[in-house]
Amino acid sequence: MSQAQRIVRRLPVTTLASGCELALVLHEIRGSRPGPVVGISGAVHGDETVGVEVIRRLSHAVNPEEMTGSLWLIPVANPLAYEALTRNTPLDMHNLNRVFPGDRGGWLTEKIADTLTREFLNKVDAYIDLHGGGALALVDYVYILNDEGLSRSFGSRLLYRPEHPYEGTSNSIARTRGIPCCTVELGGGWTSEESYVQRGLRACLNALRYLGVIRGEPEPPGRQVVLREIATIRPSVGGTLVPEVGANMITRTVPQGQVLARIYNPHTFEEAEVIRAPFPDNAMVLLMPDIRRVNPGDYAYMVGNMATAEVYE
Ligand SMILES: [Zn+2]
Repeated sequence: MSQAQRIVRRLPVTTLASGCELALVLHEIRGSRPGPVVGISGAVHGDETVGVEVIRRLSHAVNPEEMTGSLWLIPVANPLAYEALTRNTPLDMHNLNRVFPGDRGGWLTEKIADTLTREFLNKVDAYIDLHGGGALALVDYVYILNDEGLSRSFGSRLLYRPEHPYEGTSNSIARTRGIPCCTVELGGGWTSEESYVQRGLRACLNALRYLGVIRGEPEPPGRQVVLREIATIRPSVGGTLVPEVGANMITRTVPQGQVLARIYNPHTFEEAEVIRAPFPDNAMVLLMPDIRRVNPGDYAYMVGNMATAEVYE
């Protein structure tokens, strides 16, 4: 008899002051043949909605009768931040993606991380973490962490091989356990999310072919650029940011000194800051796709240095 089935489980976290029970919802899609358990999470940051919709469509796109192994899907890893459309958890202001492995006796966000670590990250054989640019910015790249083939199978044009990956991320648990893992940064900034969702779904299906969960050869990724150096450009002052490089330039290159945006003081109208491309040749990793209110220190631009990049044709 086939083992294929779909199960929805609730992972309890705690009871909120409102009396509402906080739980994470895990969709287990068990294939007909034994194989790896691939975990995929969305909305570790609550304002990154592309991954949530990619996971919903992925759950319908796969047929467990034809799968080897299982999918464990957590579409909304931080429900309170998703509800509030905020990067961090509004009740304690912590960033879930800096507090792993979490703490059962700690802050609320640490409790969520602890539940994810114990009930999800410690039990999967591969892990894919879906992120996006959040409420303001548009982003398009994939991290290379410990399985370059997995990262490249997403087919994104830009990849990033960080020398020192962030600690406290959900992926830090996967790296410590030595299981293949990958963080995908896709979409955001409320620009044409539909096209990014469609791309994200295709990319996840290709990654599942690479991991052997669904049948077929993975599609070759095409031309890819692996960045080793990314400059994160944060405004030193707040104000109204008016971009001079549009959303169509995401993943493309711009020359040194190119004005990326001007920030105006909204009260006095004076030009408070000009943001320029820093490298001789700059790959646009993250950008502001439209006029935005920015605060000092926001993620305004991420720009890759093409001079130190590896190009795969
Ligand atoms: Zn994120």
